[in-house]
Amino acid sequence: MSEYSFELSIPTDTDGYVLMQCPLCCEMFKLHPHDVEDDAVFDIRCPCCGIVSDNYITDDVAELAVAKAGNIFLDEMHKEMKKLERETRGGVIQFVVGKKPKHEFEKRLMPTIEAMSETVCEECGKSMKLTHALLFTAYCCPYCGVSNFNER
Ligand SMILES: [Zn+2]
Ligand SMILES: [Zn+2]
Repeated sequence: MSEYSFELSIPTDTDGYVLMQCPLCCEMFKLHPHDVEDDAVFDIRCPCCGIVSDNYITDDVAELAVAKAGNIFLDEMHKEMKKLERETRGGVIQFVVGKKPKHEFEKRLMPTIEAMSETVCEECGKSMKLTHALLFTAYCCPYCGVSNFNER
């Protein structure tokens, strides 16, 4: 079998932010996709625990990716087996394939779940959305790592 790839489009909220989740502390936050993909930005750190992770995929996105990949695999398996069925038709050994396998449900991704507010880093000027709980305590900028303390 060859390699397959598929695209997952992660929805943005009305302000163009995409929801992310820290795999370590599970804190949710939102960043602009164009900031995240900016070449000048090397690491994105969690605004809550301050640790840099490889990805901040939310559980929903991870689940959808697994479902999608599984469905593609099922379809391909079925196609390959159908081919085998055709090739062995009328032969001494016949390979018969049953119905197409049922697909895993691909859940629709929702762009927002948490109550978050927009804030701008005083140091690098990049904007982000953070949970109210985090905004009222201390957090660090996901881009430059500078701690921001909310005086309000
Ligand atoms: Zn974290
Ligand atoms: Zn910053």
